[in-house]
Formats: sequence, C-alpha cells, structure tokens
Amino acid sequence: MSKYQTYLIFGAPGSGKGTQGRALGLVPGYFHCACGDVFRSLNLRTPLGKKFLEYSSKGELVPDEITIQLWKIRIDQTVKSYLFHPDHDFLVLDGIPRNTNQAQMLEEFIQVHRVFHLSCPDRSKLVERLKRRALRDNRFDDANEEVIHHRLETYDQESRPLLDYYGDERRVLIDATKSPIDVLQKIVNVLVEDRQRHYGGGEFSAVT
Ligand code: ADP
Repeated sequence: MSKYQTYLIFGAPGSGKGTQGRALGLVPGYFHCACGDVFRSLNLRTPLGKKFLEYSSKGELVPDEITIQLWKIRIDQTVKSYLFHPDHDFLVLDGIPRNTNQAQMLEEFIQVHRVFHLSCPDRSKLVERLKRRALRDNRFDDANEEVIHHRLETYDQESRPLLDYYGDERRVLIDATKSPIDVLQKIVNVLVEDRQRHYGGGEFSAVT
C-alpha cells in the first residue's frame, strides 16, 4: 500500500488546530481528519464510546491501540465512500499522532511532509479560548478548569516530544496567537510552495 501524503496540524488544546484543519479541508485536494471528531462521533453508550468518555473527561489520552485502530477504520471508511481520494488528496491530520508511540504506529500508513506547529507559549490565552469554546460548542472536556490544566500538562509531557521526533526540517513554527486568517495564510503559503516545488505548479497528485 502506498502511504497517505500527510500534513500534520500540531499544537496544544485551544491553539486552533480544528479551525485551521476545517478551513484546509474545504480546499479541493486536501482532506481533513480530526481525531477528536472521530471520537466524538462515537455512540457514547457503546463500550468504545464509554472508553473515550472515561479518558477525555479526565483530560487524558485514549490508549494508543484503540486510537490508532479507530482512526484506521474511519480513514478506510472515508476512502471507501469517496470522501478521501488518497491518489490525489493530501491528508490533513489534526489531533493525531499525539505521542511518539502513535507516530511510530502511523508510520506504516502516512508519509509526513510538514508539521505545522501552532505555538502559544502563553497558557492563559489557551485556557481563555478553551473556556469560550466550552460555552459555544458544548464541549464537556473544556468546561472544567482542572481538566483543562490536565490536558495542557498531558500535551507538554506526551505530545510536545513529537516535535523532536519529526525534526526541525519538517516543522513550520506558527504564532497561534495571531488571528485565524493570518495563521491560515502562513499555512497556505507553505502548501503552495510545496506544491510548486513538487509539481512545478502544473497538474498535481498526492501520490509520489
Ligand atoms: P483538543 O486538541 O482541544 O484537546 P481534541 O478534540 O483533539 O481536543 O481531543 C479531545 C479528547 O479526545 C482528548 O483530550 C483525548 O482524550 C481524546 N483524543 C483525541 N485525539 C486523541 C489521540 N490521538 N490519542 C488519544 N486521545 C485522543
């Protein structure tokens, strides 16, 4: 199987990964998949749904095996239903991988071109954004300040090391405190450059 040509949107909870991912997913040739959405679409009464609730309500990561299995099932479904065309779409992932073990497990399926790092060292800004999101999107895991802090800790301890895993050449540092349109512009500039470099601006395909 050839690997999915992939861009990662990476950053702490509240850094704006979902906003950027959804915007990119509207562009033909880019298919967006947010791992949090995959989990949230589960029926919460099923054993898997209950597992998700158990971990996410504490601000912890769902175990890696379950996460990768579920992600793979969902991606396969999107290919089968012609939503994602791996032959000519790039995959834009947000919220996965979230630790180096997940990254290793995904190596079999994805080829990572870039990691867009939405950086926001000021944690109070993130907390503020998450609290606003709790009200707007009815997100139970954003409603409690203690859970928010635990998610930020989980990010620092488990997810941040991924930046070293993928290395500086693939990392694109972006100031996440800028407005969504500024952040989007930065990401799009890099995507356009990559496209021109690989395909000379002509007909393109995600298959390399
Ligand atoms: P955020 O990035 O704001 O934390 P997400 O919607 O990406 O929000 O994730 C919500 C919750 O879903 C996480 O706190 C975690 O419990 C679970 N989750 C999402 N993606 C993963 C993943 N790749 N591995 C393990 N757990 C995950």
